[in-house]
Amino acid sequence: MSIFTECLHPKDELLATIARIYQYRMTTTSGGNLSIREENGDIWITPTRVDKGTLRREDMVWVGKNGKVEGLHPPSSELPLHQAIYRARPDLRGIVHAHPVALVAFSAIHQVPNTHLFAKAKAICGDATFAPYELPSSEALGAAVASKFLEGSDCSILENHGVVTGGISLGDAFQKFETLEFVGRTIIKGRQLGEVRFLTPQEIELANRRPTVYGVFERQAPSSPEKDLRRRLCEFVRRAYRQRLFISTQGSFSTRLDESSFLITPYQVDRGTLDAEEIVLIKNGQCEAGKTPSRAAPDHEAIYRHHPKINALINASPINATAFSVTDTPLDSRTIPESYCLLRQVQRVEYGVQYHDCEALAKRCSVDRPALILENDGVLVCGGDILEAFDRLEVLESTAEALVDSRSIGELAPMPEKALRGLEIMFLQT
Ligand SMILES: [Zn+2]
Repeated sequence: MSIFTECLHPKDELLATIARIYQYRMTTTSGGNLSIREENGDIWITPTRVDKGTLRREDMVWVGKNGKVEGLHPPSSELPLHQAIYRARPDLRGIVHAHPVALVAFSAIHQVPNTHLFAKAKAICGDATFAPYELPSSEALGAAVASKFLEGSDCSILENHGVVTGGISLGDAFQKFETLEFVGRTIIKGRQLGEVRFLTPQEIELANRRPTVYGVFERQAPSSPEKDLRRRLCEFVRRAYRQRLFISTQGSFSTRLDESSFLITPYQVDRGTLDAEEIVLIKNGQCEAGKTPSRAAPDHEAIYRHHPKINALINASPINATAFSVTDTPLDSRTIPESYCLLRQVQRVEYGVQYHDCEALAKRCSVDRPALILENDGVLVCGGDILEAFDRLEVLESTAEALVDSRSIGELAPMPEKALRGLEIMFLQT
């Protein structure tokens, strides 16, 4: 179940979202505030001066459209900012404001992260804008930011302050917030590696043209092995989210069920709160009725068809490995034996292959080439089972992080050929 389900009371939705933002260090205990506007114009907002680490549902504050306030605490001091944006944009129902580190870095150098880094980020966030400095909590700040939202922007960097995102729900605003922060972090990491490559409008369009239409079948009650695999896959998807290997809108994980079918994450369902029943079964090239599989499904299907020993696949966007995907710097796995044995030589796939040529992608991936960097689209790893693929993803990210960090202290001294041959003889002969 998603935390953004329509059944949740606004107090609970605010609580779940602020907990998530705080847990992943996207705000400090004192900074940041969220709101929801109801159909009738009433606003629910987080309180002022209450520790984000111990907030309860009853701490949330109600502000009527006539200005009446009800709650245990005063509303956030940034209420005027929220109200000004809602006045400017009647379509918005949720707002997130916080000071996440990467976006504060952009705010402090008076720049905006370019969302054309990933096709999906551009689709989710649009183009971010830059609002000039005004005193926090002032009507003037509200007016400055609202004018940017009036232009149609849903994401605004606030000069020397932080970020505001708005959405048609609080969940939508959160996804924009998390995705923009992810873009910011990737650009910062990428710049430590070299020149960062952004996508052209034509390249972004390529990602949108991908066909994902499946025939459907009415499914029977799942077998016990299928139930077991659904549970395991779901646990690992949530774990990948917790470990920041996925963000809520990015990441596809699949596992083979038998020679003609596999299970895969659904399209546009929050990875952080995925349920086993939401996972999608693809059988004989058809999809179970009533569900939409992740857009990576045709790629995974082709890889399973070409490689009988591959039983699990993950598309992910862990920050350090993804930084390699937006630069030309190769990810050299010859750092330590664990990295070389699990990753072998990490392959780079030029941008767009995954969107228009599943067969070509399938030929680039194999048990001997189990880790791919997809240009401006994160990484793809495979495994003999769910755990092996997940382990490989963690090793890939840890290796990437060590490589990024090593650049500030010295030059990489890769393991010599003799050491690699020794590993191959001992661990990698098939
Ligand atoms: Zn603030």
